Amino acid sequence: MRSLILLACLMSSAAAEPPVRALIFSGRNNHDWRTTTPYLKKLLLDSGRFDVRVEEEPAGASARTLAAYDVLVLDYNGPRWGETTEQAVETFVRSGKGLVAVHGASYAFGTMELLGDRHRRTGLFEKPWPAYSRMVGGHWSAEEPKSGHGQRHVFPVKFVDRQHPIVAGLGETLLASDELYHNMRMEPDVHVLATAYDAPERGGTGRDEPLLWTVRFGEGRVFQTALGHDVAAMTEPAFALPFVRGAEWAATGTVTRPAKAPAGPRLLVVTGGHEYETSFYSLFTGYSWTHAVSNEAAFKKDIRPDYDVLVLYDLEQDLSENARKNLREFVEGGRGLVVLHHAIADYTAWPWWYREVVGGKYLLKAEEGLPASTYKHDQELIVRPVAQHPVVAGIGEFHLVDETYKGMWISPAVQVLLKTDHPTSDGPVAWISPYTKSRVVFIQLGHDHAAHQHPTYRALVANAITWAARTPQ
Ligand SMILES: [Zn+2]
Ligand SMILES: [Zn+2]
Repeated sequence: MRSLILLACLMSSAAAEPPVRALIFSGRNNHDWRTTTPYLKKLLLDSGRFDVRVEEEPAGASARTLAAYDVLVLDYNGPRWGETTEQAVETFVRSGKGLVAVHGASYAFGTMELLGDRHRRTGLFEKPWPAYSRMVGGHWSAEEPKSGHGQRHVFPVKFVDRQHPIVAGLGETLLASDELYHNMRMEPDVHVLATAYDAPERGGTGRDEPLLWTVRFGEGRVFQTALGHDVAAMTEPAFALPFVRGAEWAATGTVTRPAKAPAGPRLLVVTGGHEYETSFYSLFTGYSWTHAVSNEAAFKKDIRPDYDVLVLYDLEQDLSENARKNLREFVEGGRGLVVLHHAIADYTAWPWWYREVVGGKYLLKAEEGLPASTYKHDQELIVRPVAQHPVVAGIGEFHLVDETYKGMWISPAVQVLLKTDHPTSDGPVAWISPYTKSRVVFIQLGHDHAAHQHPTYRALVANAITWAARTPQ
């Protein structure tokens, strides 16, 4: 059985596009590589197209090091790497692999006299590497007119070849907040994709300066972006979209990533009726989310147009007729629902809600021959996945301190995803409800910061939101 599951996994991943393997050279830069390199890695990973590794000591990397990769990304501006590594990089690109140079990488190796004695004294930049300038297609120069940049500011980047796969579909312009490099020395065969007007009142040249380009080096494809001074610059669309698409193009010659950053799900998060720690809010960092502090406030109007997923962390019994209608229409309309922790005690006298939609309830009092449910704080739990499901993808057995519930009514039709053997718990601590009109996940865990800040709990909630946001089949 186990080998069958493994085989099924192998077959499904073989059918999907294999990831592009990217290696980032970093570890030396007059820019803040300790923050920019992880951000570049995140941009590539978030696109879903790349497998990414980072090399912080490129000197010594060999042809064998590079052999596993499709594209090399340079977030590097530091000393020479030595003959073995430099030859390996040249051969890598010349043989048909990809290269992406980011911002300061355009003046690595030999043009640092521009930055004056402070850098020269380090002895890092004593010998230029001429092939590097040809390879990256454009580089800084200390000769007049000197390369440099005016004041950092916000400016539009104009796409001048809108047919090229890297920038096709991005529109006429995107904004950057960056240094606008000028007077760079361009190789004759460079293909410029984007420029920006370098305003004299900002210390610029008064000309359109090339900022994004491609160049062929042997059989290899090279993409350079002169943008990307720091993480704030890298979050701008003029950097982020062309960078990811440029890396894919350099590696494969084609671009499959969308021309718009995919919009994440819009969340409505409802609290009220039960206290909680504000560490709860940190679960939604990076999401577009709205906080309703009561159920009446949440459902006072039709919420279908504005939200994709409803996250409940409230504890309420009463809901006005109008609000009840809006809640029901949202759920019946195929939107996602994630019920967290004490929200399992919502609307315990509304059978449609707890039987059909949520698939369970916490009994606030004894009823229908069942005793009241019980809770216990600060229990040390070992929780294990008991199903294969996207909500528990990447979740292994984990350990946390959290509150347990016991004596809940649980529909026999739920699909249990996580269980604990703790004696103060019912056992199931996460399930998928049998409701078919929308995707509903319940996670019993999540009383306080010990859960909210637990990496596995956070991954679980993120998975639940992602899965619930999808339209039901
Ligand atoms: Zn810079
Ligand atoms: Zn609690």
